[in-house]
Amino acid sequence: MFFIENTKSWILLLLTIPIVVINYKTYINGFKALKILDPNMDTLIALGSGVSFFYSLFSLFFNTGHIYFETSGVILTVVQVGKLLESRTKNQASKTIKSLIDLSPKIAYTIVSGKTFEKPINEVKIGDIVLIRPGDRIPIDGEIKSTNKKNILIDESVLTGESAPLSKTAGDQVLAGTLNLGSDFIIKVTKLNQDTIFSQIINMVTNSIGSKPPIQRIADQVSKIFVPAVLLISLLSGFLWFFLPSDSKYNLTFAIMISVAVLVVSCPCALGLATPTAITVASGRAAKNGILFKSTAMLELLGKVNTIVFDKTGTLTQGRVMTYGEKDKLRPESISAISKLDQLGIKIILASGDNEKIVNEIAKDLNLSHYYSSLLPQDKFNIIKREQEQNNIVAFVGDGINDAPALSSADIGVTLRSATDVALDSADVIIMNNNLMDLVKSINISKLTLKRIKQNLFLSLIYNICLIPIAAGLLFAFGGPLLNPMLASIAMSLSSICVVLNSLR
Ligand SMILES: [Mg+2]
Repeated sequence: MFFIENTKSWILLLLTIPIVVINYKTYINGFKALKILDPNMDTLIALGSGVSFFYSLFSLFFNTGHIYFETSGVILTVVQVGKLLESRTKNQASKTIKSLIDLSPKIAYTIVSGKTFEKPINEVKIGDIVLIRPGDRIPIDGEIKSTNKKNILIDESVLTGESAPLSKTAGDQVLAGTLNLGSDFIIKVTKLNQDTIFSQIINMVTNSIGSKPPIQRIADQVSKIFVPAVLLISLLSGFLWFFLPSDSKYNLTFAIMISVAVLVVSCPCALGLATPTAITVASGRAAKNGILFKSTAMLELLGKVNTIVFDKTGTLTQGRVMTYGEKDKLRPESISAISKLDQLGIKIILASGDNEKIVNEIAKDLNLSHYYSSLLPQDKFNIIKREQEQNNIVAFVGDGINDAPALSSADIGVTLRSATDVALDSADVIIMNNNLMDLVKSINISKLTLKRIKQNLFLSLIYNICLIPIAAGLLFAFGGPLLNPMLASIAMSLSSICVVLNSLR
């Protein structure tokens, strides 16, 4: 008889067990966070669904009360759907290092007693004589000893971001990673491979991976306040029902039931949808505008940026210097984009590898008060670090290989479609139409997304918050109802529908 009477509950139990098992990671993450008193969204989900599950199991075996298996199952499923919506590209960091390493020469052609040998780059010593052929990337730092023609042309854009080639002659320094656009020449090695600026770029990119601060997701921040509040209300209401009424009906069992009911109803099922639905809709909108967000969490972060560091050549300017003496022009939209960003209250810094005179002129044209010239890749990286230390959320906009350390260490790296492959790999956001006004647009899209997420969190919590007094027995004390599974289901469905509709509008 026991089994037949409870057929529905048993079926629900059998359906819920696999969901609970599949989502074991949510429980592990959630309770780990609770253990270190740093509750996050997983804590709230794990508490709500875990308590619902075990309470229902207890009710089923001892025939004591309500069954909330579906609450437990639906909460977990909805969270999984949300995570699925949000799961996007990862491993972009390792791609950057790979494209940088692909660029770096593995061997040098050393000359010993008039003969040329291939030597692995790490075995090349200071003082070795190395042949550089036309079109070669220079494998190591050195001083030019002799050249076929009087002057040779070197493209140093890998280190400086400057596209104009430089003319060099015997006695000048050449740097690893730069490109020989002219004829053969011979150098005497002045630095070991691990000491070149190019190796330092690779090291800085490698080290900045994993050092990026974790993004504070709004849902987690809300949970940090909500979880302790709910735990407190749960304990307090059980405590009051145990001590206050004189009727012996309200014993320890009843008090525990009240505490559990508060925990069950407070877990907002739609919380798992609040962020992913808003972000999915926004990333579609951004893509339609030619803005590619490589990680969806960046959609939440870009709107909070209060400092933007800009590279100059190829980013604010067109970067095309065809003949010597011709000035590299600003992009047509640069002035209006910078003034729009300024209106948004964002601090703008120009960080350029170019010389002081040119940078001063550009800063004047753009009406900028913070600007730096003649920077090496590590200097840009240091400017970002310094701004971050002052608790600013920093974006970096750049296009060159020399910008890779800054792109990967900034909170958000932004690049243009016209950028180098290394920059495209290091960046979090790519502006596909090479138009800086789209940066303003993407910040506005992110701000709107943040607003939507906050509204969604409110919508997903409000139903639960309204039901907490019922679960705590406030209405019951005055002859009203207690929480039952139907009320819990209605709250779950209504809040989920509201969240989805709000994201789509
Ligand atoms: Mg550049």
